[in-house]
Amino acid sequence: MTDAEALSALKSDGRAPYRVLARKYRPATFAELVGQDALVRTLTNALRSGRLAQAYMLSGVRGVGKTTTARILARALNCVGADGKGGLTAEPCGVCEHCRAIADDRHLDVIEMDGATHTGKDEIRELLDGVRYRPTTGRYKVYIIDEVHMLSEKAFNALLKTLEEPPPHVRFVFATTEIRKVPVTVLSRCQRFDLRRVDGSRIAGHLADIAGREGACVSPQALRLIARAADGSIRDGLSLLDQALALAAGRAVDAAMVQEMLGLADRTQIFELVEALFAGDAGAALTLFSAMYDAGADPLLLLEDLLEAVHWLTRIKITPTVVDSPDIAEAERVRGGQLAERLDVAEISRAWQILLKGLGEVRYAPQPLAAAEMALIRMCYAATLPTPAKALQRLSAAAPDTEPARSANERAVAPPARPEAPSRPAAASLVPAPPASPAFDRRGSTLPVAKPAATTPLTVPTTDASASTPDGGKRPPPRCFEDIVDLLAEQREMILHGHVLGNVRLVSFQRGRIELRLEEAAPPDLPQRLSRFLAEHTGERWLVSVSDAPGGATITEQRNAASASRLARAAAHPLVKAVLATFPGARLDGVRTAGRASDVTVGDSGGGDGGGEDRETEEDGVMAPIRADGDAEDMTDDSADGDRD
Ligand SMILES: [Zn+2]
Repeated sequence: MTDAEALSALKSDGRAPYRVLARKYRPATFAELVGQDALVRTLTNALRSGRLAQAYMLSGVRGVGKTTTARILARALNCVGADGKGGLTAEPCGVCEHCRAIADDRHLDVIEMDGATHTGKDEIRELLDGVRYRPTTGRYKVYIIDEVHMLSEKAFNALLKTLEEPPPHVRFVFATTEIRKVPVTVLSRCQRFDLRRVDGSRIAGHLADIAGREGACVSPQALRLIARAADGSIRDGLSLLDQALALAAGRAVDAAMVQEMLGLADRTQIFELVEALFAGDAGAALTLFSAMYDAGADPLLLLEDLLEAVHWLTRIKITPTVVDSPDIAEAERVRGGQLAERLDVAEISRAWQILLKGLGEVRYAPQPLAAAEMALIRMCYAATLPTPAKALQRLSAAAPDTEPARSANERAVAPPARPEAPSRPAAASLVPAPPASPAFDRRGSTLPVAKPAATTPLTVPTTDASASTPDGGKRPPPRCFEDIVDLLAEQREMILHGHVLGNVRLVSFQRGRIELRLEEAAPPDLPQRLSRFLAEHTGERWLVSVSDAPGGATITEQRNAASASRLARAAAHPLVKAVLATFPGARLDGVRTAGRASDVTVGDSGGGDGGGEDRETEEDGVMAPIRADGDAEDMTDDSADGDRD
């Protein structure tokens, strides 16, 4: 509801026109600003010491007090005190001619403009035209531009010219709800303040104070509900209080009344619904939900309430003493306490994820009610499934690690036993530390591989036919093209490695002799570079030549195809399917296969530097982590294993 609407709705007949609370109790001094302590401190100090910025930028969500602050600042700059002799002050008197004129919006030197309605260059020009004239009556000309981010580019440019060389008698105060849309050039010339969303309990306290001054009786519960709905905005809180007082028409305002006004569901009902959801009882949950809907509750608010209840359960789980606080309502304390006792944190977090996703859907769905019901059904369904941690336990109990390692192709028949990736949406922390299987060893991705490489490029080519592996063992000479790719990665020849991965097609491979077809993006001297590299690192002569034959797929293409098919196979697994269906937004990110002790995992680098250090692998296929985004450079796989024998 806007101020104007509230005003017309609440005008009391016959008597003096009703002034909406937000206007009536608009702070006139910095001390009265609620919840903006840092800003108040800085501005007060600046005013006391006379160190004023030329321009201020106030950002923050609607209703936190940006324009109010701007006006107080305008007063502080122009106030002359009750005796008419005062100077710049941090405590504007409120009674002098200037203070009063500013409060009534009629001060000639305080020019207010709404960027949302006056976005053009000409309007700004016109406004800024007056900048060069001295103030008419005041000490400073103060330009207040609200929603400044809405100005057009040309308007900003015009403004910037003035900001670059502002006359000393001019101050600008800009307010915006979207600071990111304000050009940096403008921002850099302003002292910036981010006004904070006001904390719910501060709003409730402020409302209580105002209700008291209005002689109204409002229960603390009702105030809390209003404060919560105000969501950080003092102005919204005051508008809602206005509404509640009008509804009550002189009677006391209680929680039930506010609940009805806001379309909120009864707290006890919310907890009943939460209980049904966690019990997996979709029938009961939907019945409850539609009863609340019929009673006027908004599906979006209902889901928000559910989220809040679930959050509350987590808080009880983590600090059980929170329920002892006297501020806590009955439903929260009793029902919440009982529920929290029965559930574990993983279950609660999962519910949170599902509801949060549901909330987004409800917001954008053409039929919010249907979307909300779908979210609830999903949550009921999830409640009957084990948490990822429990699922993993069950799986590892069912499929012990004694299963012999098989080739990748055989594995294709029996999908991976540890679908680890899908657990991500449910918060990674819920997944227990991976079992101490070497398949989870990520040495390849982060640790020592790179270290020896840093020194090797400086070594003189050795006659020894084998280069050292990072583990200190001897590396056999490359037996296939993949081995060369591995060697390049291991030696940190990343540029060459990149070209070999994506821009060459292998035509033929023999020890000491390679024929390649170069893609257009490959550098023409690639054969020479590769040949030099191989000589240096294998101690053997390698002839690398360019061929016109079509050649095979590039390594990248091979890997993409292999990982896509692995991903598809894993996605077809019933358990993976169930997990994907349960966790909204979950996607299969990669497939890793647990192998036997001799297997070494090939890690992904995780960084953007192309540093996928490929580890030597045994022919027993070890599946590399795959990312669904197809970032092939960071992947290794086992598709070429057959060539190695
Ligand atoms: Zn004054």
